[in-house]
Amino acid sequence: MSVLTDLIYAGSNAVAGLTEGAVNDAIAKYGADTKVAFPDTAYFFPTIYAATGVKVSTLGDLPACVGVLKSLISNKPELGDALNAGLATAVGAEIIEGLKYVGGGDPYAEDSGIGFVPDPIIRSLGVPLVTGDIPGVAVVLGKADDPADAVNVIKDYQSKGILTFLIGDVIEQAAEGGVKLGLEFRVVPLGHDMTAVIHVVTVAIRAALIFGSVQPGDLSALLTYTKERVPAYVNTFGALNEVVVSAGAGAIALGFPVVVDVDLGENQVPGALESVTDHAQTVKKSLELRNIKIKVKELPIPVAFASAFEGEIIRKKDMKVEFYSGKNVTAELVKMREADEIEDHRIVVDGPDIDSGATEYPLGTFIEVAGAKMQPDFESVIERHIHAWFNYMEGVMHTGQRNQVRIRVSNDAFDKGLRLKHFGEVLYAMIMDEFDAVVDKCQVTLITDPAKAEHMLKEVAMPVYSQRDDRLASMTDESVDTFYTCTMCQSFAPAHCCVVTPERLGLCGAVSWLDAKATNQLNPTGPCRPIEKTGCTDERTGAYTTVNEAVAAATQGAVDTVTLYSILEDPMTSCGCFECICGIIPEANGLIICNREYSGMTPTGMTFGELASMTGGGVQTPGFMGHGRHFIASKKFAKAEGGLERIVWMPKELKDDVAERLNKSAKELFGVDNFADMIADETITTDSMELVDFLTEKGHPALGMDPIM
Ligand code: SF4
Ligand code: ZN
Repeated sequence: MSVLTDLIYAGSNAVAGLTEGAVNDAIAKYGADTKVAFPDTAYFFPTIYAATGVKVSTLGDLPACVGVLKSLISNKPELGDALNAGLATAVGAEIIEGLKYVGGGDPYAEDSGIGFVPDPIIRSLGVPLVTGDIPGVAVVLGKADDPADAVNVIKDYQSKGILTFLIGDVIEQAAEGGVKLGLEFRVVPLGHDMTAVIHVVTVAIRAALIFGSVQPGDLSALLTYTKERVPAYVNTFGALNEVVVSAGAGAIALGFPVVVDVDLGENQVPGALESVTDHAQTVKKSLELRNIKIKVKELPIPVAFASAFEGEIIRKKDMKVEFYSGKNVTAELVKMREADEIEDHRIVVDGPDIDSGATEYPLGTFIEVAGAKMQPDFESVIERHIHAWFNYMEGVMHTGQRNQVRIRVSNDAFDKGLRLKHFGEVLYAMIMDEFDAVVDKCQVTLITDPAKAEHMLKEVAMPVYSQRDDRLASMTDESVDTFYTCTMCQSFAPAHCCVVTPERLGLCGAVSWLDAKATNQLNPTGPCRPIEKTGCTDERTGAYTTVNEAVAAATQGAVDTVTLYSILEDPMTSCGCFECICGIIPEANGLIICNREYSGMTPTGMTFGELASMTGGGVQTPGFMGHGRHFIASKKFAKAEGGLERIVWMPKELKDDVAERLNKSAKELFGVDNFADMIADETITTDSMELVDFLTEKGHPALGMDPIM
């Protein structure tokens, strides 16, 4: 141990010295009262806040933190203490990085890294992490002796959907090696200074605060959470220096194993610090250390297929062909058939394939499925996945759904041999993989013949779309006899359970009642369990004994009373990955709603991040509640508090997005036309007094309602 502990201490002491100097310099230059904060977070300096409860807000708060940091570095050369020294390095790195943000501006503007990761991004990662879409988090740092080694490891992670953060010169090595970089590709360059590693550490730490409801200052709960629930690990490339080793000790303290590519011999710590000098084994060993299992999808297509390519954008100049509803007919349809009506694994391209020389085609994507347990309700559930599956192909971009679609195929993918029949193979393989419990046979027809595509759209697809819309519109909480739990987020938020009803989708926005029903059918002992809709004890708030029992069982008793329709009385809990949050604004006698993408101020005096930090981790916080975008126009939204009439403010983008449906519901519920126009947004005001003036001028109904509290 001694060589290593010596290095750790040397590194921690070096970072401590740097930190102290940097803090003193900053105070001398800017003054102790100068504000210091990372951008768009409600968790101050997250490591310091989570570990000690101290809320750093000015430079003057920092000398005390440096004191704490130094006290973590004791001089007893034992591993436990050495890990504390590693934590000290993390605290030091956080302070050094935080100081870069003093005085405004983006200190990373000139760096190819992004620096600090804002809260909303962490919240948006909740769902892919819990569904296993992102199976793990890799931290790759240093500089590889042979750049190809780093490139291969990173590409391998990318193909497995692992979210990879890069620190150091490995960023350029990856970029030069052709790795597509960016959050949308799940390979995120953080920065070049080794201290930038803190930006991934605080992601893990904020996950504990956001989803795990870990209390600030509870260091042991924090370390337990990161160790057990954040599937992260570290790979270092190149020679180790004292700072890297000391940062590695910090990672190990958080429960993240470190794999180095130099031979540490007897200095290895099995399970925590291991040497893998053969780079072909780096990925395998790393995944094993965190027990991350990857479902391999071997598809007979000539391009890579991975969730990491979902966000890939294909620009016009890189595009070989396009299917675009603005120019040609497009339609996507999944239709249930009798078993004898279709032939399993039959894939037909009806019309020219994309190598016919044209650059634009119509496209009817017609998928027919049969199965003993298949139900018409699952057609749309499967159909909605077409978007993701097409996007997973490297070099294919898909947006939209149904008859409003744009699909682009890149020159690169085309040159590799990608053709339409491969689209069919992808659909077939994914449906048989993910929906095998309900689909026994699947046949795919890709129609590019203009007349036939037109026929499919008009005669086959449109009638089905409108039937489905009618069914969705008539589907109310009253019209069904079963609700569903969803506990998918429990891997991060152990005390959280969503209750999904026809008029209230899961707060992540990704799970509708139909989805929950299908999930239950696919996996009866999985995250979605049926709740029999009986035992209503309060119609107004939507209180049911069966719902309470189901939630109590699902949360091991952590929550035993929730209502479906109230924000103030036993509101539903939040995990942390909600699309929107609503909160009461007593001055305006109403509710404001804020979506995750909006980073500005709201009339409550709080940003989305600050509002969001009021709830989460499965805790009930009356007055604040996370919910999906789609819930905003629901007739059950805040029904107990008077319903949609209470909405007084939303960011403009969100308002525009929901206006049509909101106006329709408002007209039906309380007879107001164009209700969205009465709702303020940030272009009108973010001040609560001005908000009241605006509402008064518009005659907003909330002002005349009973006091909200
Ligand atoms: Fe998580 Fe709720 Fe969405 Fe399920 S419905 S994935 S529990 S947020
Ligand atoms: Zn969630």
